[in-house]
Amino acid sequence: MGESSEQPTGALRTLSGMTVAAPSNSTVIAPRSESGRTQPVYLDCNATTPVDPRVQAEVLTYLAEEFGNAGSRTHVYGQAAKERVNLARRQVAKVVDARPDEVIFTSGATESNNMAVLGLTTHGERSGSRHIISTQIEHKAVLEPLEEMARRGFEVTLLPPTAGGWVEPDAVLAALRPDTLLVSVMAANNETGVLQPIPEIANALVSSPAYFHVDAAQAFGKQIEALRHHRIDLLSISGHKLHAPKGIGALVTRRRGYQRLPLSPLQFGGGQERGLRPGTLPVALIAGLGTAASLALREYTEREQYCARLRDEALKAFEPLGVTLNGDSSRTASHILNLSVPGVDSEAAIVALKNLVAISNGSACTSQSYEPSHVLIAAGLPEEQVSGALRLSWSYMTPAVDWEAVVDRLQLLRHQIP
Ligand code: PLP
Repeated sequence: MGESSEQPTGALRTLSGMTVAAPSNSTVIAPRSESGRTQPVYLDCNATTPVDPRVQAEVLTYLAEEFGNAGSRTHVYGQAAKERVNLARRQVAKVVDARPDEVIFTSGATESNNMAVLGLTTHGERSGSRHIISTQIEHKAVLEPLEEMARRGFEVTLLPPTAGGWVEPDAVLAALRPDTLLVSVMAANNETGVLQPIPEIANALVSSPAYFHVDAAQAFGKQIEALRHHRIDLLSISGHKLHAPKGIGALVTRRRGYQRLPLSPLQFGGGQERGLRPGTLPVALIAGLGTAASLALREYTEREQYCARLRDEALKAFEPLGVTLNGDSSRTASHILNLSVPGVDSEAAIVALKNLVAISNGSACTSQSYEPSHVLIAAGLPEEQVSGALRLSWSYMTPAVDWEAVVDRLQLLRHQIP
């Protein structure tokens, strides 16, 4: 089936009053709040992305009009819902070259990661494979399930990254053991944007029986080829990092030949999602994820070019400040910059810039606490660079940024510091 026929009618509608700053014509919208006050430009897309108006329209259709339960077999309401879920399964699967029945809808990447890691417990115990390899730079949504595996008696090896923030495939190979159950490596780091060498790691695993899980929360729909590698067994997806709503995600569970992965469910109930993730399917959210996936596949080249242009502009503007880039810039996704301004603390910079740009200094999940970034510490960066790290992340929906004003504000801040 062609890509356009995979797109439900209505999915391309835009809601009144909203337009998308499409990469090709890159319309600039000055963001305004309800009160008409100019809002800072949102540069925290790694925390969450704005919902694309085309996705919003699709979600609303399945909230308001097609409200059936995908599990109802006895009437057209249920059938319409089920058809939309099946379409979304195809839309998500196509992005990573998986089979639709290998896609399990979840509430987001945290749940997918938990299912992938903890779901292998029983198999690991039965087969005597009690060793897991992962990295020190994973998101907490992988590190914490790994801590739980350690409590359950598994041995977990966490590999350090290079100074550039990526993990060497050779280090993975060297850590492999006959009893390695699982290798879990993220695709794109949420703090630095550094892309991990997923295809190379997948190739290194060819003669190992270990399962390979990739937390692709920040890469799904953005890095296409790397995630299509068939040695990846499990792949976690988050809708709200790809312009779909929060509360929806997926776990791709690739079969090995005809064999399904030996995952055990973490919840029990009505048998939905092949019994792995029971519960009534949130059809509207699933429709939104499907549309977001389909749009990403169609538009990713233009999106990538638009994001790279924003990055070039930012880098040029920041030059006079003598900033340090955190993470190997030749391996970094185009929609993120993690940098430190010498002599400027990140908290002070965030406050000074708050009316201009909305940025962060790390993962939104840990921003309640002022813990220094475990990712930058693992890369061995000096303390001042870690405490000064700013994360700026954007998307194809990001309007033009007044980088000069941002740089001026930071210059001023630097001069104010005794
Ligand atoms: N993994 C990574 C790399 C992330 O960046 C995030 C969110 O920031 C998650 C997992 C958690 O995703 P979700 O919010 O969909 O649970």
